[in-house]
Amino acid sequence: MTTQSTSVLVVNSGSSSIKYQLVDPVGGEAIAWGIVERIGEEVGSLKHVTQTSTTERELPVPDHGEGLRRVLSLFEAVGPDLSRANVIAVGHRVVQGGPVFDGPVLVDALVEHQIEQLSPLAPLHNPANLTGIRVGRALLPDVPHVAVFDTAFFHHLPAAAASYAIDRDVAEKHSVRRYGAHGTSHQYVSHEVAAFLGRDVEQTSTIVLHLGNGASASAVKNGHAVDTSMGLTPLEGLVMGTRSGDIDPAVTFHLMRNAGMDVDEVDDLLNRRSGLKGMTGQNDLREVHRLVEEGDAGAKVAIDVYAHRIKKYIGGYTAVLGGVDVIAFTAGVGENDDIVRARACEGLERLGIEIDLERNAGRKKEPTIISTDSSPTTVVVFPTNEELAIARLAVDVVTGGRP
Ligand code: ADP
Repeated sequence: MTTQSTSVLVVNSGSSSIKYQLVDPVGGEAIAWGIVERIGEEVGSLKHVTQTSTTERELPVPDHGEGLRRVLSLFEAVGPDLSRANVIAVGHRVVQGGPVFDGPVLVDALVEHQIEQLSPLAPLHNPANLTGIRVGRALLPDVPHVAVFDTAFFHHLPAAAASYAIDRDVAEKHSVRRYGAHGTSHQYVSHEVAAFLGRDVEQTSTIVLHLGNGASASAVKNGHAVDTSMGLTPLEGLVMGTRSGDIDPAVTFHLMRNAGMDVDEVDDLLNRRSGLKGMTGQNDLREVHRLVEEGDAGAKVAIDVYAHRIKKYIGGYTAVLGGVDVIAFTAGVGENDDIVRARACEGLERLGIEIDLERNAGRKKEPTIISTDSSPTTVVVFPTNEELAIARLAVDVVTGGRP
């Protein structure tokens, strides 16, 4: 790295973990990355990876402050040297920006307070994100810290897509609307895939299918999100590793009235014991495919449901967009699972979507067109890079533009 180049430290703080990456926001490369896990447990773990070494440690990490202190000592001990990396910003992933934030912001005491106030909308995530911000600001006080919100890209969804058809006063009083999630990824992929295809994003209609352990779809018209599948929380929409996605809300009352479940048990059922995990016992699609190969009929149904739901969203968003130019598959499943991609697009030729099965075959590490040359819609596998996206947004905030 030359002395002129800059870097951004991207931090994703969870309830018991801190993931981080030191990113070159211009070249896009990860200079170093790592994860602290099992914070607060008897023995925690640290993994720190540089371009030339991997360091792993098992040791107690009582809290996030200690976790980040350990990370900074690893940077000092094995490099890269942060004082020479010209860190121009720390970018923090924040899950819920609620009705307040429509873009990334420089963190100050007011922003911290607002993130805290939004915690009822994301009780598992926002407090953990805020902890990461607080310890980060305490340990790296000389660098600007930027909060990048997962919901911001969807802040300006049209009312038709953002509103739920419930009592308006209740919705307003309790901030009930579609906020979406994975917005940083949807924004990055929809914009970068247009550039990859040599298209003007301002004149492109795109469906992004972010299929990871969490999964969401978005409809993006001329660079702006016009609909997305996640709702008030990340529970709505596609079938996920452990979440049900779309479900009749009456299932909740039914279970509470007839199965003796309380609200926390239904929450646990729908968020952590449903989706692929609930249907097959496995949340990882690789394992679900293995079960199918072993003749497990339930696993076959789970993949049918998973692909059917994606197909429904492709159809729905094609209608919302008035025709779609580009469909982009991304994240763990989207980038690696050719069966899901083929099943989701199967039979959509009359919508202008034609997959080339040979092009589709296999895992994709690089952006790859998987539609036929004659397909009116271009279907692309486009690897997401949320850390780079956060780093670039953080740079935009601190410099008012790219370095
Ligand atoms: P997260 O949502 O946790 O960021 P990822 O985007 O990394 O997740 O996706 C993780 C998921 O991707 C796994 O749970 C698994 O279902 C899927 N996945 C990863 N590799 C493969 C693969 N080779 N084939 C099929 N699915 C895969």
